[in-house]
Amino acid sequence: MPPLHFESQPRPTRVLTGQNPGQQQVSQPISVAWTHSKAVRGARSKQVLIAGFPAGSFAANCYVLASGPGAECLIIDPGQDAEQGINDIIERYRLRPVAVLATHGHLDHIWSVAPVCDARGIPAYIHPADRALLSDPARGFGLGPAQQLFGGMTFTEPDDVLELTDGMMLELAGIELVVNHAPGHTPGSVTFRLAGEDVAGQPGLTPDGPAGGEAGTLFTGDLLFAGSIGRTDLPGGDYETILTSLARVCLPLSDETLVLSGHGPQTTIGAERASNPFLSGLAPATGRTTGL
Ligand SMILES: [Zn+2]
Ligand SMILES: [Zn+2]
Repeated sequence: MPPLHFESQPRPTRVLTGQNPGQQQVSQPISVAWTHSKAVRGARSKQVLIAGFPAGSFAANCYVLASGPGAECLIIDPGQDAEQGINDIIERYRLRPVAVLATHGHLDHIWSVAPVCDARGIPAYIHPADRALLSDPARGFGLGPAQQLFGGMTFTEPDDVLELTDGMMLELAGIELVVNHAPGHTPGSVTFRLAGEDVAGQPGLTPDGPAGGEAGTLFTGDLLFAGSIGRTDLPGGDYETILTSLARVCLPLSDETLVLSGHGPQTTIGAERASNPFLSGLAPATGRTTGL
């Protein structure tokens, strides 16, 4: 996937390198950018601007998506101390945030959801099975009351919370994202997929298989990383369930599908299919990646 070339090439001061998922490290304000090309039938290719950076001491990747500079944008997983990085991207590309999306409810991904949403009057989208973690993230670590986290820090839901369902198509900021429920790391984990070329009559609801045309881009949260998968030892986690989610949501996608995960560097479905030890022997689930 080539680097971003809109009117100005961002200057990454730090590349998303191969830190292990969950590994603690100091985050610096950075911007790493990708483009996502969507082939539109009868029209020239449409691109989506994607910028991201690892936020906070957990280095959870936060992504900003827009149809281009000067447009509305979406923010995926605004984690610890993410606001400065988000503001840098917004100012650089003159973007207007319209919604926050959470891949799941773990604190390293939702830390800044409420301040980002409420400062701008925009909604947060999260799966209902992880919604309670917005206001009580300690339960995601089995710690009990939130007061046990970070010296009594408290967290609240933003004013406007909207719930995600499996197979739904989000149409926000001029961008279409397919939502898939992918439990296992947490009960409410989801993926967001920028679809490639749609199959006629079934917009956005067809996996990017060989007949699907252009490869898509998949935001996997803590479901799938380069060379690894999400941990399943935290409350609500389940190893067999995450394998089922990987088989159902990830493996039917084409090898070229770009994977932008919740920690660490970008990868592709093909690279993970070939070398990720957790995926070996795992056959794609039959049927669509959508549905009930
Ligand atoms: Zn997580
Ligand atoms: Zn995480």
